[in-house]
Amino acid sequence: MQAPRGTFDVLPEDAERRQVVEGHVRRILGAAGYRRIETPTFEATELFSRGVGEATDIVRKEMYTFDDGGGRSVTLRPEGTAPVCRAYIEHGMHKLPQPVKLWYLGSFYRREAPQRGRYRQFWQVGAEVIGSAEAATDAELILLLAELLEALGVRETRLRLSSLGTPETRAEYREELKQYLRAHEGRLSGEVRERIDINPMRAFDSGDPGTREVMAGAPTLLARLSGEDAEHFAQVRAMLDDADLRYELDPTLVRGLDYYTRTVFEFTSDALGAQSGVGGGGRYDRLMEQLEGPPTPASGWAAGIERMLLATGELPTAPDLVDLYVAIADQSAARRAFELARDARRAGLGAQLELAGRSLKGQLKQAGRLRSRYVAIIGAESEISLKDMESGDQRKLHPAAVIPTILRGSRLS
Ligand code: ATP
Ligand code: MG
Repeated sequence: MQAPRGTFDVLPEDAERRQVVEGHVRRILGAAGYRRIETPTFEATELFSRGVGEATDIVRKEMYTFDDGGGRSVTLRPEGTAPVCRAYIEHGMHKLPQPVKLWYLGSFYRREAPQRGRYRQFWQVGAEVIGSAEAATDAELILLLAELLEALGVRETRLRLSSLGTPETRAEYREELKQYLRAHEGRLSGEVRERIDINPMRAFDSGDPGTREVMAGAPTLLARLSGEDAEHFAQVRAMLDDADLRYELDPTLVRGLDYYTRTVFEFTSDALGAQSGVGGGGRYDRLMEQLEGPPTPASGWAAGIERMLLATGELPTAPDLVDLYVAIADQSAARRAFELARDARRAGLGAQLELAGRSLKGQLKQAGRLRSRYVAIIGAESEISLKDMESGDQRKLHPAAVIPTILRGSRLS
């Protein structure tokens, strides 16, 4: 049997690399005051249809939706922002000192055509700052993601940046864009033409040559921002400039989610193929109201763990340390060996016991493979031989002296 299409197993070596990623996430976001939150893997379907938007690809065709057995429709979470906002509202977090800074790391589910870097179950790390409209919040979030990508050695990254203004400016602009698209309908791809009314902004994302030509002359939202929105965006840019973070202004940047306002951004990696998006996000000042919470400005991002790992070079992983390998030289010693391994672990040492019935030579080889610091060889007699694998020295010890000797870390010469 095989894992379902678009899913994969995280084998121990992969799990170790992921743990390194998580370590950097904890360090970088923790230092900036973000705290971890985890939400359920499934939610009421309505949360996503409202919180992500009916017109988005995610809601239109990518969700795993099913009946919970009691007549209620639930959906495997396709993204993390709407659930985090739901939790913020449900737990009255608006009563906490604002803003509330959160991060999450978990698996998400989208019915997509599986390919390299695109799966049906994938992992995202995300950060959200809820309760601040400041430009500094957006700049901080962007810089933290940049720092994470750098710490992980994600290669050839590029940052695209834009602003979508407020929903009102956007609505006006959408009308202008629709008119423009209708005026050039004949040169647009069928898919774009069909969606002029539902989601005209997506036309900027099209790979169709005719559509791309039309879009090159299209009016941009960035040129239509109101005074306050333009000022907010100028502040974000100034802070990124001060931090020497390079970005490309991209007025065609359209994020897949409907709820964004003002700042939007995306990091891509040229080291990836077609699936070049590593992580992105933006400000979503109106989402909380859409979910019937108190009006609360917010901003955040999500980054794909698999994409980051694909785009990084060698990620040094540290295998768990083995301080002691307990070798069995005579079957009569099996219980004493078991006990020594147990005592060593209780004393805080990394200890492994021979479990495969190898010859003594085979056991020493196995200890070497595990890069164990010491090997205790237990035979029929009561004394135990302790071998220092670094110096090669070996010494006979009273059983009670083995663990203290290792803890002292003294050489056995
Ligand atoms: P794409 O344009 O590649 O479909 P997206 O805009 O749908 O990405 P987001 O919703 O912004 O992606 O999710 C944030 C990040 O999650 C992406 O940048 C990517 O790294 C990762 N991601 C999204 N969908 C998948 C998937 N199906 N498999 C693996 N990673 C994914
Ligand atoms: Mg997508």
